[in-house]
Amino acid sequence: MSRNTRAIIDLDAIISNYQYSKVLAPDSKNIAVIKANAYGHGALKVAKTLEPLVPAFAVALFEEAVFLREHGINKPILILQGINNKAEIIYAAEYDCWLMLHQQKQLNIISKIKRTELSKLLNVWVKFDSGMHRLGFDANRVETVLLALTQINNIHSDLVLCSHFSHAGENGHKNNLKQQQLFQQIYLSSINNHHLSSLKLTRSLANSPAIVAMPDSRLEWNRPGIMLYGLSLFEAPHDSDKMLKPAMSFVSSICSLREIDVGETVGYGGQWTADKKSTIATVSVGYADGYPRQAKNGTPVFIRNQRLPLVGAVSMDMITVDVTALEVVNIGDKVELWGANIAANEVAKCANTIGYHLLTAVSDRVPREYKENENVE
Ligand SMILES: *Cc1c(COP(=O)(O)O)cnc(C)c1O
Repeated sequence: MSRNTRAIIDLDAIISNYQYSKVLAPDSKNIAVIKANAYGHGALKVAKTLEPLVPAFAVALFEEAVFLREHGINKPILILQGINNKAEIIYAAEYDCWLMLHQQKQLNIISKIKRTELSKLLNVWVKFDSGMHRLGFDANRVETVLLALTQINNIHSDLVLCSHFSHAGENGHKNNLKQQQLFQQIYLSSINNHHLSSLKLTRSLANSPAIVAMPDSRLEWNRPGIMLYGLSLFEAPHDSDKMLKPAMSFVSSICSLREIDVGETVGYGGQWTADKKSTIATVSVGYADGYPRQAKNGTPVFIRNQRLPLVGAVSMDMITVDVTALEVVNIGDKVELWGANIAANEVAKCANTIGYHLLTAVSDRVPREYKENENVE
């Protein structure tokens, strides 16, 4: 291998994080969200690891579900953006993919398919817009949609009523309670509507931060994503931080070292100037690997048990770090970009983005290396 850059994925950490979600919500079924290649951790490996523990998986796209099926994953897979055409529905029925139904166009497609065209009944989740204003039927149309579903003979009468929080990561934000109340109101109104008595409705509202901080939002089904990968969920310190274990360690190594004089600049555009004689380490990772180009001077990097500052612009294939503070430093030294010692969220903040973005942006050029069963003797 020409360089040491890789993402080391701790599968035991993912198991432990999933189990923590179950401890918090023992009466719920927690669906593991593994969209976007399991937030960059490798969807297949994560799915294989969690399959014995979870009732189902969730992905964003139809293609992501097909990929998992073609690689031997058997548990049901919820497709969060639903389907777009008849061929996808036929596939979904055959291969146990659950459909998020969030707009009229999808309902029209489902309604036109004859029962005889499907090998099994479809499992449908009905999503409504409780305040996020991104996907979902208007709240005041939910009962009309459910009524339409009672008239269709190709779907299961077990339906899940679903919505998504816009501010779950902001503990105590007023929209959270508002969305929860609207959700409960629509649910109660639906189950009390005798025209809908043939349906068996369950509910799903909570994503990771809601599972952790909003006990009332833990319903029959939850949808943990980011917590499985161990990032802290809130801006302020929270009890859950101690329970969540970061699963990804993004590492590289020093590929070049030099001394520069006071007044010299580093990198494209000279975005950092040495205020004294300095030692600069060049590390073999750049924005083409998913290290954020927006990371500013001072973004922490971990080398030889010390936090050291990124200096100069992030290049496509390299970054530069001021390692003057190290007494000993060598070409080949290991560098942690984020992981056990530096939180992805902290790097994200230095690059004006969020941890979710960094995890999912680690590119295909970076090999994933898996650690598991480390605790088993
Ligand atoms: C991505 C996603 C989730 C998971 O959210 P986290 O914040 O990662 O836990 C849950 N539900 C829906 C609809 C999503 O799109």
